[in-house]
Amino acid sequence: MAPPLALDSPVTELPRLSAADARRLARLGVATVRDLLLHLPFEFDSYEEVASIAGAAADARAMVMATLVSIHSKTINSGRHAARRQLSLSEATLRDDRGQPLKVVWFHKPYLAHQLRPGDRLALAGRLKPSRFGPGLEMQNPDHEVVGIELGPRRLAALMPRYHLTAGLTSKRLSGWVEAALPLAGGLEDLVPPPTRERHRLLPVAEAVRQGHRPQDPAELAAAKRRLVFAELLELQAAFLLARRRMASEQATPVEYRQEVIDAFLAGLQFEMTGAQKRSAWEVFKDLRGEVPMNRLLNGDVGSGKTAVAAAAVAMVHAAGLQSLVMAPTEILARQHLDRFRAHLEASFPGLAVELLVSGVPAAERRRVLTAAASGHCAVLVGTHALLEQEVTLARLGLAVVDEQHRFGTRQRELLRAKAGAGRPHFLAMTATPIPRTLALALYGEMALSTIDEMPPGRLPVATQVLMHEERDRAYRLVRSEVAAGRQAFVICPLIEESETQEARAATVEFERLRGHVFGDLRMALVHGRMRDKDSVMRAFRAGASDVLVATSVVEVGVDVPNATVMLIEGAERFGLAQLHQLRGRVGRGAARSHCILLVDQPSPPILARLRLLEAVHDGFRLASEDMRLRGMGEMLGPRQHGMSDLAMEALQNPELLSEVRQEAELLIDAEAGLEQWPPLREAAARRLDRTSIS
Ligand code: ADP
Ligand code: MG
Repeated sequence: MAPPLALDSPVTELPRLSAADARRLARLGVATVRDLLLHLPFEFDSYEEVASIAGAAADARAMVMATLVSIHSKTINSGRHAARRQLSLSEATLRDDRGQPLKVVWFHKPYLAHQLRPGDRLALAGRLKPSRFGPGLEMQNPDHEVVGIELGPRRLAALMPRYHLTAGLTSKRLSGWVEAALPLAGGLEDLVPPPTRERHRLLPVAEAVRQGHRPQDPAELAAAKRRLVFAELLELQAAFLLARRRMASEQATPVEYRQEVIDAFLAGLQFEMTGAQKRSAWEVFKDLRGEVPMNRLLNGDVGSGKTAVAAAAVAMVHAAGLQSLVMAPTEILARQHLDRFRAHLEASFPGLAVELLVSGVPAAERRRVLTAAASGHCAVLVGTHALLEQEVTLARLGLAVVDEQHRFGTRQRELLRAKAGAGRPHFLAMTATPIPRTLALALYGEMALSTIDEMPPGRLPVATQVLMHEERDRAYRLVRSEVAAGRQAFVICPLIEESETQEARAATVEFERLRGHVFGDLRMALVHGRMRDKDSVMRAFRAGASDVLVATSVVEVGVDVPNATVMLIEGAERFGLAQLHQLRGRVGRGAARSHCILLVDQPSPPILARLRLLEAVHDGFRLASEDMRLRGMGEMLGPRQHGMSDLAMEALQNPELLSEVRQEAELLIDAEAGLEQWPPLREAAARRLDRTSIS
């Protein structure tokens, strides 16, 4: 016999939930029954309950109870000419309680004809329309549920919750699982201390969960959501405050500010720093002088020049007799940094050695670099996560720079600390995506924030154009003409969230198609997430070994190919604005005018409106805010890297809530033994601190 369902049970123990469903739920951050209960719907479709179809206004959103008279499935031809397709559907006749007839059509659901039986009582929610088949009314694709006679309106009101979903899930199935889990709600532990609940008029957790999944009106849902979001943000903010406390008790080696270092650095730079770069550098220098380790996030758009700011910090640290580590997410980016840091530093600071450590480095060279680092001879060690390995030691580590990474976990910090002889290294992270300020405060509250909100002057914006599926030839002509002019192009294949394997396969098919039928005479290359040696493909492309690189979104982060002038993105509607902006940032890095083409497979007015923003807007912060407003920030940062629910993300649209929570967290932590008095919150915050890791 199966063990009884508990809050900690994996969701797979719920009825009718497959392993594939569990993977889908995991993408929503739902792994256990507890997670599922805390995953509230974001809204309810409200339908007016109509007692009799006869009295219903045509075109009304309605909920009706009716009894199935007959049902059958069939296949029809739909569309005209070339677009002609086969369409399967189920057609049913029902009668409401007063005997009025109702026709119902479900498209794409022929199986319903076998599932439903004449005599079944159905609750149907949808739009009532004049029937196309004769007199009376019909419903197309209503949501439906088979119900027992005894079910009253209370249950019906909860018929149509809308949950945040991922591909393969429906709100209906989700609410079925929630129903099975709801009896356990009473056992949920409340993270929010009772005085806080009182101060902010928050529901107890169990009540919020019950009422959130089955509200009687929108106000009940709103109150439930507010309560859960408040708790989530409170846990996060409490964790940040704990982290800040912990760090404040740590000792770093202060790095003295020296004007002559900056003068030399600026003199060696090929350009004038922007105001935003100078301001950020100044904020960094101030932190470096402290005895508490710097913990700062450098937040700036693609191409805003974060590297120069980091290089200035490295120069200062070097002048203080300390070493720096620079960590990049991939080997190719590490090599790119090696070149940049050398260009920024070696001319102005004779004797400042910048070295590379990645897995591709030959053994003898590797030994030489390791020795140089350990002896303190190498001033800057650039590499990938391999830098965290135990055999890498630095005699006098003063600063760690982590690029294109939002967060650096406690464990990784420990590894870094082990490398620094005495004291903690100062820490500087750089984002891959510009993050609106509210969100940065909510997500990276343990870090100080520097924002580079200004681009270097003289950049040509990437000419961006949304094209329909059938205008693809125009895109291909552009690729050809740019290649003929000696340039290179990226072709990005549609995002397939479901699986990297499928995505890789689709990219391979597209690559073969382009090579065979479209660009047969061009030099083509392919890169996707399932390849073992992505870096060498990218390197070859960067070196000009091919004209067109067909890729999945793996090329998203940081790769710099100045000669590439076209970014063609297939299925652009599947990407978020911020992600598209990231991809677009892969071109426009050289002097020549660059182009970004967004090909749309399934246009709809809202999709086109969203994508057209990219034609007009080139400011990454603004696009990120729009993305956050339109789709939720969760999408923007990638699947669950942020550890925050979609509901909480959504709630961040309201900055007042966040500041309310931040104040409350401070109050709790500052109060005499504040957090100690409420172990559930303290433990949750501590767990969260330990969980945060390099994503
Ligand atoms: P990102 O913030 O995306 O990491 P980079 O540091 O890679 O940006 O800088 C992008 C490009 O802009 C580099 O080629 C860099 O040399 C150049 N750059 C940076 N700052 C300036 C500036 N103030 N003026 C002109 N060019 C700059
Ligand atoms: Mg960069």
